[in-house]
Formats: sequence, structure tokens, C-alpha cells
Amino acid sequence: MTDLAQDRTKPQDTLRPRSADQELRARARAVIPGGMYGHQNAGPLPPEYPQFMRSGRGARIWDVDGNEYVDLMNSYGPVVLGHRHPAVEEAAARQAAQADCQNGPGPVMVELAELLVETVDHADWAMLAKNGTDATTACCTIARAQTGRGTILAAKGAYHGAAPWCTPRPAGVTPADRANLAYYTFNDLASVREAAAQAGDDLAGILVSPFRHDAGFDQELVDPAFARGLREVCDAAGAALILDDVRCGFRLALGSSWEPVGVRPDLSAWSKAIANGHALAAVLGNDAFRGGAQEVFITGSFWFAATAMAASIATIGALRDEDAIATMARAGEELRAGILGQAGNYGFAVNYTGPPQMPYLTFTGDRGHALASEFAGHAIRHGAYLHPRHNWFVSAAMTGDDLALALSATDAAFAALRRRLSGS
Ligand code: PMP
Repeated sequence: MTDLAQDRTKPQDTLRPRSADQELRARARAVIPGGMYGHQNAGPLPPEYPQFMRSGRGARIWDVDGNEYVDLMNSYGPVVLGHRHPAVEEAAARQAAQADCQNGPGPVMVELAELLVETVDHADWAMLAKNGTDATTACCTIARAQTGRGTILAAKGAYHGAAPWCTPRPAGVTPADRANLAYYTFNDLASVREAAAQAGDDLAGILVSPFRHDAGFDQELVDPAFARGLREVCDAAGAALILDDVRCGFRLALGSSWEPVGVRPDLSAWSKAIANGHALAAVLGNDAFRGGAQEVFITGSFWFAATAMAASIATIGALRDEDAIATMARAGEELRAGILGQAGNYGFAVNYTGPPQMPYLTFTGDRGHALASEFAGHAIRHGAYLHPRHNWFVSAAMTGDDLALALSATDAAFAALRRRLSGS
């Protein structure tokens, strides 16, 4: 069932077909541990969510059964310009037609490194990899190589990837995996100073996210004084300030996400949006850490593949030429105004937090995200793919029709929740 013939700005309160998804889930259970794993496991989501997706274009996506949704998750961040952005796909296809994975990188690697250095304020050099975890891990390794010290400070509860040193789940992790880490509280400079004092002359670096975007919690923007304070602590200790821009990079600003805050990290980790859905990550750094970066041995079989690099060059060009960050912010502001208006109309106390491009909605006092899950289940049924326990991502492809569909779905979701709660 593709709904293209219908008015897709109106909610369709239909029971959507699920047979292809169900069949794939059954097959997956036999050959994939747990049926699925990681952040894209639809198992913990409300039952209305599909596990398997087929295609996407702009701000719309289709599941394997052909159901259409307006996408407010954008692959959990990688898609920033919209699915299958023509200039990005053309650049990737042109490169792929020549070569992707060879004995050495293509010229695009140098072109992309130059473009990243030109675009991101604090960067004097770039290294490329594949995933955010590659990049955050490499930043810590480079900080240690440069300083000759061990301890990295990270914010309690912050997500920096899925390697043993940072995975949020304890399974398979040993105390030794985390021996060199200590923790502070985001936006609490006193806790940073205390942790830094305890690390003493072993402090190699402080890892921080541009804002607090821990899954399942209301988001918290950075206090500029906190960011400046981290810079001072690092300068005083000769340690690296490491910005984990994996989730926010190129959504909030074209430089680093702390460019508007006026604080320059020494090292930054990037992935997700930098190639509009093509697999790529980057470590960017300043000259003070070039020596450490040169010394470490970090690599990967696919890290030098050219197609994603070509896609990244086109993505950065399109972000610039299409003023995509302002477009995302505008769409995000309309979404916020619409959802907050609806919550008020239906009498719900909600918290809508984070920058407009990366919002997150919780219901005040909602234990175990029960109301948020019910809301998300109704919203997806009416054509909006959002998330009850993770921040959302607005892409620059959102048209007026996409926003109208998103808001009609959230309106229907609030209405259904209100009906259920009032027993009518
Ligand atoms: N850091 C942050 C802030 C992230 O959001 C993520 C991914 N959600 C990562 C690191 C890890 O990235 P990846 O999943 O690509 O390894």
C-alpha cells in the first residue's frame, strides 16, 4: 500500500499491513541474535513500528510493506539533506563508477580533508574512518598519544559509542576496559574540576557532547560558561578538549557545534550527517595534536573507500549552497510550535527540549516513557516516524506538506491519548 494517491497531509487512521515485516522478523530471529540488535532494533518500540525499511526520498520513507511515513528520525541522524539527495547521490555514483575500495584512497580523500579543514574552525587536519565509535575512540587514543597520559573524563550517562570503553550496557565489559575513564556531570564545572584534580597529572583529555542528548532524558543545551570552563581546565592541564560532534555535527552549525558558543576543541569526532547517509566518520584536530595523530596506528579495511568521501564533499557543498542548517532550524521551529500548541489544546504537560533541528518530547511525570510510547505508537500509525526515547532529527528536506503530515499525525496522537485517558 503506497499512499501516494491519497492526500498525505491528512492522517490515515488505518491498520497498516505488516506481513512482509512480520515474515522478515521471523526469518531474522533464526539468523540474527535476538532478531535484531543495537539502536535500530525495533523490538523495544511500540508494536506499530516496522523493523525493516525499503526506501526513502526527501523527508518520506517507506517500510517493507509499502507504508509511507514522514521521517523525523532520519536514520538516527545520518540523513541531513533528506533521503537520496540528488547532488549527493550523483557524486557518489560518479565516484562508484570509477572505484570505491582500492589499494590507496582516491584524490577525493585530500579534497575532503581540505574541505573539512576549511569548514570547521578548529581543524588543521582530518583523518577519516567509518563510524562514530571509530572517531570517538581515535580521539581518545590521539589525546593519550600526544600527552603521554591515560585518563579521559566523560560526562556521566553520555553516549560516545558501542566499544567496551563507552557502551552503555555492561554485558561483556570488564573493569579494565574502563580503567582510564572518570566521570563528571554535564554543565557542572565543579564536577569537572574535581574529576580533573583527581586525575592529577594523568589527565589526557576531556570528552564532551555539544549539548546533553542522553537517550531517554530531557535534553539540556550547553551553558557557554561551562564550555569555556572546560577549555580552561584543559589548557591548564595541557589536556585535549574533545568534542563528540557525531550526533550534532553539521546540524547546528557548519563549523563545529561549538562554533556558535565560541569554544574551540582540540579534537572532534564526526560521523552521522557528514555524508548524508553514506558510511563515513572523521577525526578533526588542531596542530597541537598533529604529532599524536601521526603516531597512532588506527585504520580499517573500508576507511579509505572513496564513494562516501565523494558523497561527503557533495553533502557539505549542498549544506552550504542550500542554507540547509537555517532550513532545518525553521522546520524544527514550526514543528515545535505546532506540537506545543497541540499539547496545550489537549491539556498535556510536556517538555520539548533541545535545538529545533534535534528535538525531543517527553510527558511530564511519564514513568517508564509509557505515555511517550503510546503517543509514538499513535503518531506512526498516522504517518509520522518519531521516537519515544531518543531525540529526533529534522532534515532540510521537510516541505510544508511534510510538516503538515507530521503535525496532523501528532495531533491525532495527542487526541487518541486524551480519549484513552478520559475514558471516552
Ligand atoms: N557519539 C555520539 C554522540 C553518538 O550519538 C553516536 C551514535 N549514536 C556515537 C558516538 C557512535 O557512533 P556510531 O554508532 O556511528 O559508532
